[in-house]
Amino acid sequence: MSTKHQGEQAGDEDRALQELRGQLAGSVIEPQDPLYDEARAVWNGMIDVHPRAVIRAGGVGDIDPVLQTARRTGLPLAVRGGGHNIAGHSTVEGGLVLDLGQLRGVEVDVENRLVTVEPGATLADVDRATTTHGLAVPLGVISATGVAGLTLGGGVGWLTRPNGLSLDDLVSADVITAAGEHLHASEQDNPELFWGLRGGGGNFGVVSSFTFRARQLPAAVLGGNFFYRPSRWKSALGAFDKWTQGLPEAMNPIVSFLVLPPDLDMGEEPWMIIGFAWASENHQPGLELIEQLRAAAPPDEEEVAPTAWPVWQSAMDDLFPRGSRGYWKNLSFSRMDDDAVDVLVGFASEVTWLGTGIDIHHMEGAFGRVPEEATAFPHRSAKFWLNIYGFWNDPAEDDRLSAFARKAYTLMRPFAEDGQYVNFLGAETGQDITEAAREAYGPDKYDRLLALKNRFDPQNLFRLNHNIVPTSA
Ligand SMILES: Cc1cc2nc3c(=O)[nH]c(=O)nc-3n(C[C@H](O)[C@H](O)[C@H](O)COP(=O)(O)OP(=O)(O)OC[C@H]3O[C@@H](n4cnc5c(N)ncnc54)[C@H](O)[C@@H]3O)c2cc1C
Repeated sequence: MSTKHQGEQAGDEDRALQELRGQLAGSVIEPQDPLYDEARAVWNGMIDVHPRAVIRAGGVGDIDPVLQTARRTGLPLAVRGGGHNIAGHSTVEGGLVLDLGQLRGVEVDVENRLVTVEPGATLADVDRATTTHGLAVPLGVISATGVAGLTLGGGVGWLTRPNGLSLDDLVSADVITAAGEHLHASEQDNPELFWGLRGGGGNFGVVSSFTFRARQLPAAVLGGNFFYRPSRWKSALGAFDKWTQGLPEAMNPIVSFLVLPPDLDMGEEPWMIIGFAWASENHQPGLELIEQLRAAAPPDEEEVAPTAWPVWQSAMDDLFPRGSRGYWKNLSFSRMDDDAVDVLVGFASEVTWLGTGIDIHHMEGAFGRVPEEATAFPHRSAKFWLNIYGFWNDPAEDDRLSAFARKAYTLMRPFAEDGQYVNFLGAETGQDITEAAREAYGPDKYDRLLALKNRFDPQNLFRLNHNIVPTSA
């Protein structure tokens, strides 16, 4: 009886996929297709799942029929932009993947400083299109990351202090909901949906188009790195914390702890690297600030140079190739006192090549000025955001290196403030989904997101994300 039922179900799915093929500009890739293994792969090599089919959209017109097929068959649906989600939310075992990764168009309206982006565009696609006009949208730091997932969760990078998160410069989005409604969301149209899209991930629908405000970008940013050996970390972190007090917003620092790739000949010990980008046409004030840091915490090695924006934005790409394995944890904090520094330095000295790293993003500036209630992003007042990340190749290292991220997170937890950045979270097993979402967003934002979810996706069609589980599901 049950075998027959499964057989009928499979037959229905086959027929639905066959019909879908006829409705698409793109393609349906099933397990027997030679492209299947390539099509099912996402950035995180630890996510090794086998969807029933990957549907590569050939245009935004393909979104509706895929949603209809998911509703009709009941197959779980994952939506994919750039495929960089660490938790593996852009694929699904036995379900349908709506892969928007071929829709990468970017249009720049120079006069109005608006940039309209298709849902499969990468950061590099946007930077390439805007830089020629001397403009930029604040995005992340690795150029192959997808704009869609990055923006729907947050978007932290080298312009966070002068411009805010990617989602802070989102002006509007076109959304196709679970019921197939086509909605325009902005501060004026469907404002509550617009609020939820900015931080709530893909919980409410498929975004078919993003429009961003672009900002003036200098011809070259003043980019640099100060490198410190472990014996200097405590004093350099203390000096860094002082240096960041009242730091002009055009200066955007990120502190990293990394063992550098062997081809750089920088040894096998971890380095603390204070990276910085001064995003202003006039480099002189930036040079003076850099000199202040140099005097307070002389680096063991350094590099500082005016750098074209797309070059700076892709400078770290080689460290994070697609197929790397990764498990990430994050938290926000503000204290960089002796206690916090002791803990940080303790676990940072355990980062390895090829394996793990730690970034501390200095926030504040434009990011911190956005009122807490303005978007669903969780926590605006913390000074720093800590990301503990992994990028290794050997499956035998999965447990050990994931355990490192968990341990570092647990050690820093006493210093943590509210919220979790969903885009820096790995896959958790055994964690209650609702509790995880509550912890990430905090109870007030969670309740507001839940009300939106109940309204726009009561059956939880869009569940492959940091899921807000609707009340009726
Ligand atoms: C190497 C690397 C570097 C990173 N660097 C940064 C960084 O500098 N700053 C930063 O903030 N983050 C960074 N991230 C994290 C990144 O923001 C997230 O991984 C983000 O989810 C990636 O977006 P994506 O479109 O590539 O992901 P995907 O895996 O394609 O999608 C992510 C999520 O968004 C949903 N989604 C995707 N497209 C749509 C759509 N059109 N409509 C609705 N839902 C959609 C998916 O269903 C999924 O839940 C980095 C990640 C990696 C792996």
